[in-house]
Amino acid sequence: MIEFKAFHALSYGVYLVCSEYEGKKSGYVANTGFQVTSNPSVLAISCSKKNYSCDIISKRGVFSLSVLRRDLPVSLIQDFGFRSSRDFDKFSNYSHKTGQLGVPVVTDCAVAFFECNVLNSVDCGSHILFFGEVAHSEKLSAEPVLTYDYYHEHYKMLSPENAPTFIPPELLSVSRKELISPSELASEYICILCGYTYNPELGEPENGIPPGTPFDALPEDYICPICRASKEYFREI
Ligand code: FE
Repeated sequence: MIEFKAFHALSYGVYLVCSEYEGKKSGYVANTGFQVTSNPSVLAISCSKKNYSCDIISKRGVFSLSVLRRDLPVSLIQDFGFRSSRDFDKFSNYSHKTGQLGVPVVTDCAVAFFECNVLNSVDCGSHILFFGEVAHSEKLSAEPVLTYDYYHEHYKMLSPENAPTFIPPELLSVSRKELISPSELASEYICILCGYTYNPELGEPENGIPPGTPFDALPEDYICPICRASKEYFREI
């Protein structure tokens, strides 16, 4: 028996993993990044096979990992976590540089970064685990780092579908409710991709949707303000 709630007891950080191959940059938000050994210094990352980055990292054999600071613009999570480098330039709005290994390193909102040469990889089914030896690293700031707990609690987001920690919402009903206050449960709709909840009482005045607008009355081209998912990805709570 697997109790899915148990997975929420695991702790993580939140990182940006980037690479580049033949001029095509890729980057994604990762919670699975950790140090494996100290001598040599090896980090590991887990990347969904569906991610554009997976192919890029496999071909280039190099990746960078930026450690995100705790307080950052939600747009950075939206752009790097819920969009694809296949059809969107994730880097244009954020400061970054080309690292010593020739791949992009995001310095925006980063307290440190690492540049790694891939030593080997393990096929774990939905994801590839890449082991990378650190060739260069820098500490950029002493600000607090973003933890996965803080990400969930402060930004009210669940894991995107391609995250190693993604759990289908139908298996997460108990845990999902814990992220949302009981008073919000009456007639809200949740985005199954990112966990954003639409509250009809509040509407989205900043997006031109007045308070009191039922979900069904939203325009057909309504999209989730967090991950840009269309209405079909929302479920009534
Ligand atoms: Fe969403």
